[in-house]
Amino acid sequence: MIEVGEALRRVLAELPEIEGEMVALPASRGRVLREEIRSPRDVPPFRNSAMDGFAVRAADLVGANFDRPTRLEVIETVGAGSVATRSVQPGQAIRIMTGAPVPDGADAVVRVEDTRSSENAVEIMVAVPSGNNIRHPGEDVRCGDAVLGPGRVIRAADIGVLASIGVAVVRVARRPRVAIIATGDELVELGQPLGAGQIVNSNAYALAAAVEEIGGEAQVLGIVSDRPGELRAAFARGLRADVMLSTGGVSVGNFDYVRSTLTDLGYRESFWKVAQKPGKPLSFGFCEGTPVFGLPGNPVSALVCFYVYVLPALRAMMGHRDVHLPVVQATLLTGVTSAETLTEFVRCALAGSPHAMTARSTGSQSSGVLRSLSVGDGLVICPKGVSTCAAGAQVSAIWLRPELGSAESPL
Ligand code: AMP
Ligand code: MG
Repeated sequence: MIEVGEALRRVLAELPEIEGEMVALPASRGRVLREEIRSPRDVPPFRNSAMDGFAVRAADLVGANFDRPTRLEVIETVGAGSVATRSVQPGQAIRIMTGAPVPDGADAVVRVEDTRSSENAVEIMVAVPSGNNIRHPGEDVRCGDAVLGPGRVIRAADIGVLASIGVAVVRVARRPRVAIIATGDELVELGQPLGAGQIVNSNAYALAAAVEEIGGEAQVLGIVSDRPGELRAAFARGLRADVMLSTGGVSVGNFDYVRSTLTDLGYRESFWKVAQKPGKPLSFGFCEGTPVFGLPGNPVSALVCFYVYVLPALRAMMGHRDVHLPVVQATLLTGVTSAETLTEFVRCALAGSPHAMTARSTGSQSSGVLRSLSVGDGLVICPKGVSTCAAGAQVSAIWLRPELGSAESPL
């Protein structure tokens, strides 16, 4: 049996990297960038107006105010998307719209609210400094700037920035294919009637959703009975994926054939059994070069092991910079007891503001009670050597928010 921190280190130690693929920018949201992107151009590309108003020579307006406005001749109107045909001479102005190129000769824009105008003339009621309301080329992004780097998860604003610099295709990590194999003679697929002693294969669906949530591609390979021959055939298929997850059959029961079957296929087991609750029987290793997680069958154990070990592994393989789920500090609202010899992940509901979070246990911590994970969104970490955490104690909790990431290991 090994400690949680050691288990996580071993998982992350020798994972293969998923290769990159090119995708169209609009389809890249949530994908992990695998290149450094430098801007091939300035944004904005030209000097333009930040306001609807008048392009002027600031020197013309010295001393202008509400009572003594400066009167200028309006020689042209320029809208966004067009270019003035004339330049602004002393005593002149060009009516200009937001985003339009600032005409030659002008060095400032006065907003329309500070003017009174007719067709061919404008009275300007303020003095403005040179450069007023002018956006300069490269003010947002300069040509040659590194705008985004590898490991970045692409978000909406990133897509906007990349579009603005004209990047239409980006290199991102291919979505890792994750084979999911549920083992157990008692399992039936969703929608099928339950016979005596049978339960629905809920693990496969929960894990597939968890894989998809972080950008993986789940391949649910169905239910496999607790027979070595069937397990072997299923594993042979599953090992073609980038990562294989099995659930059930890794404990010490009479029908727990997952590890022995994997061993027949050449499994190099990195560890089996972690000093944790839930999820003690977790097995991890490599088979035919494919990382394999033998997850316990208990639905809570399977999902907790996913969040703590599989999620960072998949992110690391994608080249993600922040592979872990974030850890938050919270005040415990309900006292919890935990096994002193193990690290315990206590299911809880986190609430409050980011700087004053609270954690409330979601009830029964039996690894068969999945609802306590469904109604909660956190795992309070009760370290080994600690058997009680009283109400009011400050605790660390893994925040089960798969859209977030942290570079810091929770363990
Ligand atoms: P095992 O790890 O195979 O001993 O299974 C532990 C517990 O988890 C048993 O109560 C199983 O019935 C249950 N279990 C195993 N696999 C699944 C699954 N795919 N979906 C839901 N429960 C499962
Ligand atoms: Mg079983």
